Amino acid sequence: MKKEVKYFDLIKQYKSIKGDIDKNIHETLLSSNYILGPKVEKFETNFAKFCDSKYAIGVNSGTSALHLALLACGIGKGDEVITVSMTFIATAMAISYTGARPIFVDIERSSKTIDPRLIEGKINSKTKAIVPVHLYGQCANLTEIKKIAKKHKLFLIEDAAQAHGAKINGRVAGSIGDVAAFSFYPGKNLGAYGEAGIVTTNNKKISEHIKKLRDWGQSKKYFHDFMSFNYRMDGIQGAILDVKLKKLTKWIKKRRLIANKYQKELSKHDIETSFEEKEMYHTYHVFSVFTQKRDSLKKYLNKNGIQTSFHYPMPVHKQKPYIKKKVQYLPVTELIAQTQISLPIYPEMSMGDVQKVIKEIINWKIHN
Ligand SMILES: *Cc1c(COP(=O)(O)O)cnc(C)c1O
Repeated sequence: MKKEVKYFDLIKQYKSIKGDIDKNIHETLLSSNYILGPKVEKFETNFAKFCDSKYAIGVNSGTSALHLALLACGIGKGDEVITVSMTFIATAMAISYTGARPIFVDIERSSKTIDPRLIEGKINSKTKAIVPVHLYGQCANLTEIKKIAKKHKLFLIEDAAQAHGAKINGRVAGSIGDVAAFSFYPGKNLGAYGEAGIVTTNNKKISEHIKKLRDWGQSKKYFHDFMSFNYRMDGIQGAILDVKLKKLTKWIKKRRLIANKYQKELSKHDIETSFEEKEMYHTYHVFSVFTQKRDSLKKYLNKNGIQTSFHYPMPVHKQKPYIKKKVQYLPVTELIAQTQISLPIYPEMSMGDVQKVIKEIINWKIHN
């Protein structure tokens, strides 16, 4: 039987850290701190440090993190928030939850993140914030975006769900905007064993507001100050994430090593891949190949036991909840939706498997 190359392998990762994970889960079970509690607090402190941020507030998903980040900036009904269509749907839906409207801007051809040159054309008196997405694990061009946000007095909210540890000019994702949202969905570079997310900020007022928003608006038990949510992080997820955070820097380095290998070998055959923009530190949550024949490539790799994925085949502005009568045309977004394919990449992947993927893509290329 042919050996499968998985898209990622969470079981292999669990086995590599089983001792510490099991111990920390066990301690949580015996302490009965099942929601928030000392393990979550320890993780919040360590994650804030990892992100060079003063505050980190643990919540129950990346979507909740985005929702609360927006609410804490006062975003609501009648407001407009500038973002991208080439993202996971959660970015847009979190904006919609507040009553505001997401305004979609096209991405840059090279970085695949929001094109700063197109932002100002979408700003009007209703615009309240910009939500750039650090797609695939690489920061959006925050240097330019921050200038625009400042000039127009807009909040800058980073969707850093895919970009734990990514950097721009040496500054780490989550520390640059007014506030940032991270996801710990199991498949993310730092993943929980269930749902979890976190908000980071350097702003004390925003941090305190989010702490209440996630926990029924309570400053004191059973006293509720405003309309709010049950968005708290589980104790067990905090315990798991605190163990995994210690490995994250090493894991990102391994992803970068695999990405380098893919780039080096595939570029020799004129295959367009992900790459690192100048001044960026890419964490390669997703490693892409771009080709007009991506469906043929997916089929060929699948036939040879190699799993792949698409990120994302249907842009948000064409999804049912967002499509309009006169469909907006976002040329680069649509090009990427039709030509992108994601290769297997994860820290536990063997270099033999990486070689196999490269070999098969080159085989395919020769016949295409
Ligand atoms: C994963 C993801 C989210 C949502 O995070 P969840 O933890 O799944 O709620 C938001 N934005 C982007 C860009 C994501 O990739």
